[in-house]
Parts: sequence; structure tokens; C-alpha cells
Amino acid sequence: MGNFMSDEANCIQVAVMVPLRRIFSYALPPEGHLQPGMRVRVPFGKGKRVGIVLGYASCPPDVMLKTIEQVLDAHPILPIALQQLIHFGATYYHHPLGDAWATALPTLLRQGRPLPKPTPWGYRLSATEAQTAPRQPGKLQQALRELLITTGVVPEAEIPKELRPILRQAIRKGWIETVAEVISPKQAVPSPHRLNAEQESAVTQLRMAKGFNAWLLEGVTGSGKTEVYLEAIRPHLESGAQALILVPEIGLTPQLVERCQTRFGEHRVAALHSAQGDGERLRIWAAAAAGQIQVIIGTRSALFVPLPRLAMIIVDEEHDPSFKQQNGWHYSARDLAIQRARLENIPIVLGSATPSLESLYNAQKGRYQHLELRQRATSADLPKMTIVPLRRENLQGGISSTLLTACKETLEAGNQVLLFLNRRGYAPAVLCHDCGHVLQCPRCSAPMTWHRQQKRLRCHHCSHESHWPPVCPACRSAVLVTVGQGTEQLEEILRQRFPQTPIWRIDRDALHGRDALATAVSDIHRNRAAILVGTQMLAKGHHFPAVTLVGIINTDQGLFSADFRAPERLLQTVLQVAGRAGREERPGRVLLQTHLPEHPLLQSLAQGDYRPPAQALLDERRAAGLPPFGALTLLRAEAHQRCRVDEFLQAACQCAPLALVEISGPTPSLMERRAGFERAELWIQAPGRAQMQKALKLWLPQFAELHSARNVRWMLDIDPLLI
Ligand code: ADP
Ligand code: ZN
Ligand code: ZN
Repeated sequence: MGNFMSDEANCIQVAVMVPLRRIFSYALPPEGHLQPGMRVRVPFGKGKRVGIVLGYASCPPDVMLKTIEQVLDAHPILPIALQQLIHFGATYYHHPLGDAWATALPTLLRQGRPLPKPTPWGYRLSATEAQTAPRQPGKLQQALRELLITTGVVPEAEIPKELRPILRQAIRKGWIETVAEVISPKQAVPSPHRLNAEQESAVTQLRMAKGFNAWLLEGVTGSGKTEVYLEAIRPHLESGAQALILVPEIGLTPQLVERCQTRFGEHRVAALHSAQGDGERLRIWAAAAAGQIQVIIGTRSALFVPLPRLAMIIVDEEHDPSFKQQNGWHYSARDLAIQRARLENIPIVLGSATPSLESLYNAQKGRYQHLELRQRATSADLPKMTIVPLRRENLQGGISSTLLTACKETLEAGNQVLLFLNRRGYAPAVLCHDCGHVLQCPRCSAPMTWHRQQKRLRCHHCSHESHWPPVCPACRSAVLVTVGQGTEQLEEILRQRFPQTPIWRIDRDALHGRDALATAVSDIHRNRAAILVGTQMLAKGHHFPAVTLVGIINTDQGLFSADFRAPERLLQTVLQVAGRAGREERPGRVLLQTHLPEHPLLQSLAQGDYRPPAQALLDERRAAGLPPFGALTLLRAEAHQRCRVDEFLQAACQCAPLALVEISGPTPSLMERRAGFERAELWIQAPGRAQMQKALKLWLPQFAELHSARNVRWMLDIDPLLI
């Protein structure tokens, strides 16, 4: 951050919200004192931009400076800790500061709109009224008075409807006053369950945590982690403080929002996510910043919501890759959440049934304190896993006879079946029966997926779509066939096999809209025997009490990927999906279909515990010097011509600080062509994060002098998650 105002200060440093790696100086506005963190509107190029004041500085007197045009805030838009968090994150991920700010702020604030004034938060009796005997005439007045006497401060939102009409008059007459921004303490509803010993111990330890502390809460699926989070934050909320709960995708956790609202008050808890409109998001953001909302449950970007009395941060499903932003500022919301907790000096809890190898390792090193829940909270046992070898099996649309029989038994017993296949669409590829030509996306190095219901071929990596061609583009044969299967096809096959059984397909094609998933889930709850077919969407968080059989259709996908994290994700996904089975009285079982029944990872996974296979993967990472052992960064470049990409990456290699880092590449990216761009990358490895940072700091500024850098789009992915 910039300097304090000093005698020589004659200009202001501004992080302009553009993706440029530099700070800009402006002449002082004629009046007003500026503070770091205030938004200003500045002339930039031919137009105007919003920027953030960093501080005063002294510029050489001969430089002609443009003047700040408008000061948009009377106070810094974010508190100091969050300003520091953004600066830390921009530095760590080597991202332009102005763009990091733009990412962190709600859209309307980024565009320069004013921060809305919060409405009154609540009401209380005025001091004189509280002392006098009841003398309000009407019945409604009496009722309002009673309410305020018994409750103290009543939030706006909790005033009963029939009493609202008389509020204004009561304020005008002076016997009621408004309360602006305090959250009055309120008794919350305690857990409806008697916590078991492991939960109890976790809650006790978390409640005693003071100051910055990072905890890893590792609890098997259904072990009652959510109960632990809620009980851990309850005393804080009861005393008027705030909590932040980060989740991978809000659409997948409507149950969490509801549970929190029931326990802590409907209006004290708010969800924040991308499906909301800009106006609604800003309203919630502003209310949280004014201390009017106590619990924010949100996705990645909720990390930057100001919460003046924040007491604890929870990151649920911390292993989920969606905490890492995949474009622009490639930050990890989980990792920055730890930094936020450090800056705000409060405890943070990372929770998962299948912690990331990074977090497991941090717990083993003692950087995180480790809490474990080894048993399911209900009386249910963990499901039993069985490997189903596919070699020589007679497959019917990808389903083995073993799995089919199990489905039949389960349905006949009145229970539900969940089949997991992580591929949307009808078939992942279409090829020519005569010449073998595969229909490729013209803009990506990927086959087109056939979506039969919409009668479209679609690329899952860009927006390209086309019709089913009448003949093969290579040999003009008319015999084009689909290869492999997606959820749409699986659903079709199941409908033929089980015509009487209700079947739900749960994926992004079948369910659009905010509430589609929630509606499907509640329909599923109302039914008995039924089949659920789905992708990732099924794996996360949901509780399907009647599911007693889980089938993993294609386990092997994750064993062949070139992404070194694929086996870790395979483990996590299988165990998360498996965790949907037998969560209540009826025991569950899981069938893993594979062509590689002897694979050691699958053998270990089939024992049902996460830790032994995870430890084996950690050992492999150690041997390979891959994260969490050593730091990894990708420098990726893309351009329409491959030679430009190589030219830049080679030039970058030439000036790399090779004493500090090891570089391999240029190698083509896993998706070599994407949306018309040729892509390649350098893999940069260092023994630790500090050394990586040192190297990048020396290295990146030199790119400005590389002529070849102007012909490509390049980006850095520090601690990359999806290769
Ligand atoms: P997780 O987040 O670990 O998957 P949840 O907190 O959602 O687990 O709990 C799973 C189920 O068990 C929920 O239906 C919850 O209400 C129930 N539950 C949690 N704790 C207990 C407990 N101590 N006794 C009985 N049921 C519990
Ligand atoms: Zn052909
Ligand atoms: Zn494409």
C-alpha cells in the first residue's frame, strides 16, 4: 500500500481496474482527503475507469498527470484486512492488482455505483417509553410494546405483518426508535441431535479456539460435520458475531442454507452466489458489511464479503476444485480463506470426508490441527464396496449383469439406486463406421458430444454446436455411429430395462434453473423404488435416505488421465458418491465397475477408507516432487498459430532463473487446441512456495521486454488444480 500523506506528496497512486500489471499515478483532486481503499473514477486512455486509491506518493514535478475525476466513496469500500487480503492475493498469484480488486467487488461496485445505505436493522423502545408504565392506547400498539419489552431489539424482518402499519407512526411519536447496524444477541436453536462423542469433542475444541488457528475436520460422509460447524459457530452468533461458510456450489447445498436459517433465524443468514442478480448480491453484501447479516453462505467470491464482526470461517468440502478460479485471477478461495483468517486473527475450519492431499499433508505437518469423525452420525454403517471386473462381462449399455441384478434386487426391496457416470450427453464421440473418422470440434482438440434429446452435437469445451452430418466429412459414408455413453443414453437403457420405475437424471442438461435440483431432490425423497442417474452433481452433499445401492459405471476414466491429480479426484469422487448410499437404517453397498480390478489404487479404495489410498498417493507425489511437496506453477500461452506459442515459451525459458526453479516444456496443453487457440505450457517446479515466489518475482518483469510476448495470450496458474 502507498505512503501516508507527506509534505512532498503531490500525486495519488491508483490500482485502475484493468488487467495491466502496473499502478497509475494521478494528480490530487482539488479537495478532500483520500484514504487507501476508496474508489475513484479516473480518466484512462480515451475513456474513464474505476480504480482504487492505494495512497499518496511524490511524483517527479515534470510529469504531466491527469486528475482524479470523481471520488466515489466517503470511506474505504473494504476494511483494512480485506484490502490486505486482495493485495496479498494479487502478489501471490502475480495478478494485476486492479483486476484482483475488480474480481473481489460485487459487479455494481466495480462499475462505480454507490454503496446502498442499509435500511434500519431493527427497532426498540425508546428509553423513556421503556421506563414508563404501559400507556399505548390501541391493541396493536400494546402488542408491539409487549414484543419489544420481551425481545429488546426486534429486527425489521421479524416484526409481525400486522404490526408493520403502526411502526412509522410509533417512530414519529417517539416511543420507538430505529437501530441501525447492530445485530442484537439472540438465542439460537441448538442442534436437534445429541452430538456423539467425536462431534462433541470437535465442537468443544473449536469453541475454545482463540485467534488464528486452522483446523482440518475430516469426517466420513454422513458423520455430522455440518452439525459440528453449526454448533461451533452458535455461541459466536448468539453473542452477535458473524460467520462465513464457503461452499463449492450453492445450488448443491440448499439444505445447508435452510438448516442454518432454521437454527439462527431466517433473516440472519443469507446465501450469496452467482445465480443471483447484481442488485440482490449488492444488497446482501451491503447488509453483511453493515453487520446486519450474521451468516453468509457463499461460493468462491463470498470470500471477499466484509463482515465487521467475523468470528470464524468454515470451508466445506475443502477438496473441491471449484474453489480455484479457472480464469482471470487464478486464486484458490480455500487458500486465501486461510490468509483471511490469519489477517483477521480468527479460527478457520476446513471440512471434508476426503480432504485434499494438500490439507492432509498440512495436518500431518502440524500446520493444521486435525479433528476426525470416524463414524456416521446416524446408526448407519459405511457402505460396503465391491469391485466388479468388467473383462469378459456381458455389458448391456455399459452396465454389467452383476450391477443389473443388484439394481433389480434393490428396486424390488423398495429402495433406490444411484448410478454415477461423469459424462453428460448421449455419447462422448461420434465416428464413421467405414473410415474411422471422429467428428471433432473444429475449434478444439476434442470430439463432439452427441446430445440426442436436443439433436445437437456439442463441444463441451467451447460453445460450438452443429447438426448430425448427413455423411462422413472424410469419406462421405452415411454410416456414422456413436461411441461410448453418457448419462442420457444410460437413462434411456434403464427406461427400457425398468419401464415401471421412476428414473431421474441429474446433470446440467436435465436440470436448469436455480431450483430444479432442489425440486428433483424433494421429488426423489417422496418416492420409494427409483433410479437416479447422474454426474458430479449427484456426488455432492445430498442426503438420499432411500438409496441403498450405488453403481460407479466407469471407474477407469480417472486412471488414464494425464493430469497428475486425476487419481486423487477419482478417490474423492468415488467415496463422495459412495457416501450417498445407506445413510439411514438400511445398509448400503457400492459396486465399482472396472477393467482394472487389480489396480492397487482401486484395491485400496475398495476397503472403503480414504486414508490408506490417499497416503499412497501422497507418497507418489513426494517421490515425484509434486505438490504438496514442492511448488508448481504453469505458464500457459495461447495464440492462433502454434509457432508463436512456442516462440514465446522458449524465449521465456531463456531468461528463467534456473538456479531457483526447474522447468519442463514447452509441452502442448492437455487440451491442445481450445476455442480456436493453440495452447502450450511450461511446468515450473521449485522445492517450496517461497522459492517459487522469489523466482517468479525475478522472472516475470522480463516478459515486458520479450517481443514474442506480444503475440500470445499468456497466463500464470500458481498451484494449478485442473491441468
Ligand atoms: P456430513 O456433513 O458429515 O455429511 P451431516 O451433518 O449432514 O453430515 O449429517 C448427516 C445426517 O446425520 C443428517 O441428517 C443429520 O441431521 C444427522 N446427524 C448429524 N449429527 C447427528 C447426531 N449426533 N445424531 C443423529 N443424527 C445426526
Ligand atoms: Zn468416413
Ligand atoms: Zn470446442
